Amino acid sequence: MGFKLKQTLGSVALIVVLSTLLIVLAVWQFRWTNELSNADWQRQQAALQTGMNAFRENLRTDLAGVCGGFANWEIGKADTVETLYARRCLDWQRSSEHRDLVANFYLWEKAPEGKYSFLEFNPQTSSFQREACPPRLGDLCDPSDLTGGFPWRGLEFGWRLHGQTLAMLHPLLEPASPQGVCPPHCTSAGLAIVELNRDYFLKTYFPELAQRYFGGAQGLFYQVAIADTATPPNFLYSSESKPSPQMVTSADGTIRLFSARRRSALEPRPEEPREGNAPLRRGWFGPPRGAFNRPPRESGGPPREPGGLARGFFPVPIFADSAAARWQLVVRHRNGSLREAVAITWRRNLLMGLGALLILGASMALVLVWSRRIQKLAKLQMDFVTGVSHELRTPVTVICSAAENLADGVVDSESQVKQYGALIGKEGKRLAAMIEQVLLFAATRNERGHYQRQPVAVEPTIDSAVADLAHLTRANGFTVEKEISPNLPPVMADPRALGRCLQNLMTNALKYGADGQWMAIRARPGSGSEAGEVLITVEDRGRGIEPEDLPHIFEPFYRGSAARASQEHGTGLGLSLAKEAAEAMGGKLTVTSSRGEGSAFTLHFPVAT
Ligand code: ADP
Repeated sequence: MGFKLKQTLGSVALIVVLSTLLIVLAVWQFRWTNELSNADWQRQQAALQTGMNAFRENLRTDLAGVCGGFANWEIGKADTVETLYARRCLDWQRSSEHRDLVANFYLWEKAPEGKYSFLEFNPQTSSFQREACPPRLGDLCDPSDLTGGFPWRGLEFGWRLHGQTLAMLHPLLEPASPQGVCPPHCTSAGLAIVELNRDYFLKTYFPELAQRYFGGAQGLFYQVAIADTATPPNFLYSSESKPSPQMVTSADGTIRLFSARRRSALEPRPEEPREGNAPLRRGWFGPPRGAFNRPPRESGGPPREPGGLARGFFPVPIFADSAAARWQLVVRHRNGSLREAVAITWRRNLLMGLGALLILGASMALVLVWSRRIQKLAKLQMDFVTGVSHELRTPVTVICSAAENLADGVVDSESQVKQYGALIGKEGKRLAAMIEQVLLFAATRNERGHYQRQPVAVEPTIDSAVADLAHLTRANGFTVEKEISPNLPPVMADPRALGRCLQNLMTNALKYGADGQWMAIRARPGSGSEAGEVLITVEDRGRGIEPEDLPHIFEPFYRGSAARASQEHGTGLGLSLAKEAAEAMGGKLTVTSSRGEGSAFTLHFPVAT
């Protein structure tokens, strides 16, 4: 097996192995991204659920903290409802961490004769004063049914959230009889109303909670709202300035903030009637029995109740009325949905991964292509060195032997001396031209070749090139046809470089068009896409160029297969130099050729304006 074939097979095998590896990596990448995405989806869902639960618990705890500050305990003999609550309100305002949550305190106090009076807490005087019930409290201003149809019985420690007004309600209870103990034997003494600070809740409290559980350094990841999810939804709070119903219909998660009354927690079940003095059933939130039957604290001091319970720290049952029971925490991802957000991350990860693989593949392909090019160039350079050495050897040998003959006196007649002199001169010129070409190539490569562009008349330049090569055309029996369009405009070029290009093309026509012994030089203005150019064509009727050689003939050191086979003199630099020079002067060099019929090389130069 030849070395070249082995090399090609090796390259193909390498390409196949690398491509397979890339495909396997791409499949793995795809699967891995899918798995990651699923895990991410589950994690984010769990985090969202945890966040919603925490939001709800936080809200409930804070509200319980508010309620705890006003927890009910038996009204002592020395206290009236009013003085007891006034003290609680004062303590609350002085020491509570949740001060901002509450806007006002009110009492509906039941007078002995059974009439109710409305009292408002005045922080200046630290006492409750009779006031007219503010209309914003709505149905809470109607003392005829302060229970609002809500069965308070058994809920001695419970509070009720009034959704419409955003107020916490708590029944005021007193022992049913002077010797009685409340609970269980209580009677209504009125209603405590803690009006929550709506403004603070909407502008500060909810946004802070939303940020805490659904936000990061760059703000909220989710749109957060508290809404009555009826259709259309009614928003109590929203993180969006204009909440859309879609927030509810395509929410990623919803959770009810308050449960309605849990009957089984505090009330005797119908099937389990409470007998006599049997202890009240307590739910998870039930305080220790009797904790509030102790005498109330008379003065300031640490906020601990005599029963050993820190005020506001025990769980307080909060039940919602029908409006608040419909409130749901609604959470929807900023990107439309959590699925979409995860899908975006999936797409991005996949693109990044596949992009990296693509770049890897492209780099590998480039390395392969470049290594092949470098190999080819190295081979061409070797061919060039061999070719140039071979080319140099012939004139040098001729010059040396002619010089030897002259020195040895072998040549004696004057005509022979002249002949020898002419031969030495001719071979010397060939040598000089070759060296010139190599130096020119090196100069072009090092970007030392600079051209002075100026308007150049085409016809005289062609005439001068034809004249310079007249001895060769004559010697080779060539017919040179010249066809110059009348009124041809001058072109922008370096006159010497243009002349060299023409000579190069004519020399090639002489070398490779020997079969036809004919060449034509035409110059005409370009038309259509070539308008604004002057086209100078050197045409021959030689052997033409092999199709497989055609794409490479402008590459430096490249020699056509026929030229190599027939051992035609040359370095493979002529066309590459002519093309580079034409392009450096703002023009170009093109070729058309058909095998056995000849070739036509055309220089395109811009018209000088
Ligand atoms: P060189 O003539 O020294 O080989 P060139 O760069 O001038 O180098 O030409 C490169 C190759 O292009 C030649 O080896 C030959 O195969 C092909 N070629 C150039 N001119 C002609 C032409 N007029 N007819 C046929 N083949 C040509």
